[in-house]
This record gives sequence, C-alpha cells and structure tokens, in this order.
Amino acid sequence: MAIRLFDSLTRTTRELQPSHADGVFRFYNCGPTVYAPAHIGNFRTFVVNDVLRRLLELEFGANKVKHVRNLTDVDDRTIGQAKKESRPLADITQHWTKLFHEDCTALNLLPPHHEPTATGTIKEQVNMIEVLMEKGHAYRAPDGSVYFKLATFPGYGGLSRIKERELKITNAVADADHKDSVSDFALWKAYKPEEDGAVKWPGPRGAGEGRPGWHIECSAMSKSLLGDTIDLHTGGVDLLFPHHENEIAQSQCCNGTTFARHWYHSEHLLVDGTTMSKSKGNYYTLRDLVAKGYDPMAVRYALLAGHPRKQLNFTLDSLHAAESAIKRIESYAKKLLSYGAITAAEFPDYFKTTDKPKVWGVLGIVWDMLCDDLSTALALGHLHKAINAFQFPTGPSPYRFEIELAELSKVMFMFGLRLSLEEKKSAVAPAEITALAEKRWAAKAAKDFATADALRKEIAAAGWSMLDRKDGYSLEQLKK
Ligand code: AMP
Ligand code: ZN
Repeated sequence: MAIRLFDSLTRTTRELQPSHADGVFRFYNCGPTVYAPAHIGNFRTFVVNDVLRRLLELEFGANKVKHVRNLTDVDDRTIGQAKKESRPLADITQHWTKLFHEDCTALNLLPPHHEPTATGTIKEQVNMIEVLMEKGHAYRAPDGSVYFKLATFPGYGGLSRIKERELKITNAVADADHKDSVSDFALWKAYKPEEDGAVKWPGPRGAGEGRPGWHIECSAMSKSLLGDTIDLHTGGVDLLFPHHENEIAQSQCCNGTTFARHWYHSEHLLVDGTTMSKSKGNYYTLRDLVAKGYDPMAVRYALLAGHPRKQLNFTLDSLHAAESAIKRIESYAKKLLSYGAITAAEFPDYFKTTDKPKVWGVLGIVWDMLCDDLSTALALGHLHKAINAFQFPTGPSPYRFEIELAELSKVMFMFGLRLSLEEKKSAVAPAEITALAEKRWAAKAAKDFATADALRKEIAAAGWSMLDRKDGYSLEQLKK
C-alpha cells in the first residue's frame, strides 16, 4: 500500500512519491528554536515526523530518503534569552541543542541526514535575499532592513487561505515600521546595537549589517541541501501561517518553481486543555517525566496515541496507559521469542535480516493504517487487537513464529518503539521504597496529587519506578 498523507495546500489526501530522477525522496521538517528546553509538545511534532521518516524509508529504501531538520539558533527569542542571561548567543544555543539531542536519542528519533543551523547558513540566506532584490520581490527599507514585497507574489495566502484584510491586521501588529506596506515581511533585520549586542553579519548587497529574518532560513537551507523543489515539507500547525506561507513566497519568487509538492501539519499537544508552549510556561519536558520515573518509550507511545492531525490532551493517566500498552506488546514478543527462532537481542533488526521482509502476517493492517494519513492511533489499536486475538498453540509446536517476529519487529521500527525483552531479574524493593510507595498510593487516593507527585520523584531518584494500575501498583527498578 502506498503512503497517503493529508496535504495542507490542496486539502486532500495524496500519495507521497519522489519527484526527482534520482528517486530520492526530499523531506524538510522545521526544527526547534534552541533557547529553552524542547517540551513534549514539540516532541509530539518531532515524533510524528520520525514515524513518517521511518515509513518513507520502508517504502522507498533507507538510502532513498533525505531528511533535513534545522536548528533555529538566531532569532528574536534566542537573542532575547542571551541578553537576559548576559551570555553569548552561541553559549545559549549550544547548551539547548545538546539537551535537545539527548532527548531525541532517549525518544529514539532517527537523526536527520542534515541538521543545518541558521547561523551556519548566513551566506545562503544572503544570496537568496540578493536574488529577491534583483528580481524586484524585495526592497531595502530606510533603516537598512530588507522586506519581501508581498504585492509581487499573487499566490500569497494559498496555503493558509488567509484573507488580505486579516493579513494586514496580523502583520501590522507584528511589525509596522519602515515598510512600504504593512503586509510586507522582513528578510533581513538591520542591526540594532541595544537589542542585538554582538549578533550581526554583513548584509545583502545594498543593505546594512544585521541578521536574517526567521523565515528565510528554512527557504535557504532547504534549497542548498535538497534543491529548489522538495517532496514534503512539515511542521506543527502553528507554522502554517506566517512561517510556511512566507517560505513559499520567498522560495518560489527566488527559484521560479514549485517549492514543496506536499505540505503536512500536525496538531498541537495540549495540557489542561490549552496548547503546551514555552512562552506560556505550561509545559512538561522529557526530563521532568523521566525524573518522575517514566520511561521515554512510554512518552513516545503516549504522543502517538492520538491522530496526529487532531489535538491531543496530555495527562499522566495517558502515560500510565502507555506503560501498560507497551507491557502487553512486550509479553506478546516474549511469547513469540520463547519458540526459539531468534534471541531477544536479535529482535530489533530482525525484519531487516529476515529473507521475507515483504510478508505480512496478522499485522499487515498496522502498516495499512499508518499509510492511510498516518493514523497512528488506529494503527496502535489494530496492533493490540491482533495481539489479543492471536492464538498460540496449546502444546509444544514445531512452528517458530518467524513471520510474526519479523512483522512485529518491523512494526516496532515504524513506531520507533524499543521493547525491553531481556528477562529482568525482578528485584524486590527495599522496605524504605515500599514505605514511600504506600504513602504515595494513599496520597493519590486522597487526591493530594502534589504530594503524590513529589513522592513519585523521590522514589525515582532512589532508582525505582511506580507503575499504577486501577487496583494497585507495582515497583520496578529503573534501568541504570
Ligand atoms: P519551536 O521550537 O517553537 O520552533 O517549535 C518546534 C516545533 O514544535 C514546531 O514544528 C512547532 O510547530 C511544534 N510545536 C510547538 N508547540 C507545540 C505543541 N504544543 N504541540 C505540538 N507541536 C508543537
Ligand atoms: Zn521553518
């Protein structure tokens, strides 16, 4: 089954196909702004994109997918944070990039093939701005900034369907000085010593020193690494306007051809019914959750437990449900392994080594669901349905379940879920941990969630995780 995905531009579900003669599928995903921790809302977007990347690799071949995800390491927010902490910009952005990468590894995200930074591609951005100025799509403002002249691109608004009147209001609020028209947006921002400190580069020909506007970075990185036309461009729904609308305008006016053949936007993760965001400060990080004893794989599972194009409300209960769901998959895998075809250590890569990689047993429906507009929640539902319905032989059997192991291994690769299949020596929790667990269970029953939360952290700090069920709990030693 081919991969079909909703396209935000045409508002239809369309098949994904590489368009270049080399057969390489070109995929650009807008990356994080590195001035604060990435929260699990950001990671919902990156995990969803990671599943997409995995499907593309399975469909077209691992060496036939080129995935770029950038790092925004210069913009108003990064500069603002550096100023607030009185530290050089690079100190701030390198610190948060390192932590971002650690979280990506813990969440089992495949590294993109290229991870360009905005500060590392100033030349490419300046070149594009110069072309836009030469072609009459951009102009220098009196203060030395450069703006994109919206009136020169009649296709503007095609992605977001934003009406001209709304556009004027939105942009007028954002930035109104020095422009010919309030709707024009900045490609290059003139240096302002009091705001920018030491952050500045030589500008495009005819403009002053300064720094790039945010939108131009993705247009320039995408062009330099993937070419003028890419096969898929993705990001969270908040990027649809103005970021992606502006990217289309810049790229198409500069390159004279279609920028992205397919656009995909995933919806936000909510907490207490509102969008989780760095600026609101109402967020969970992966580290917060790991400190409370949750496994990153449970977080990854919980982030995939809703349809990516629908908002998902994050709760600790959803994490408990994810923990139990993973345990059920692990039990199924262990039972299959008990027939002796392969060892637990061979399981993760088994689908790549088996000589029947295209054969599906009972889990073919999971692949079909993921290929049907990335329906992760339905796919997980079908996975559990198939596992629950699976009939193992009652007595000894010569059948070694190679197909079932291969397809489960492949399905785990698609979801990016690592299973714990090695038999753990089940350690017995020491008395002081059991005492803390009892206190936490009582606090939870009394709905004193603050105390219950604090105790969970204390238990995790001592190396134990408390797994809640409806009727009780169990204690497991955390992996070292
Ligand atoms: P930022 O670091 O703010 O540039 O965001 C990085 C990515 O996370 C972008 O694709 C955003 O659209 C996405 N994003 C931001 N907030 C959320 C959220 N609450 N849920 C899902 N994705 C988000
Ligand atoms: Zn972008």
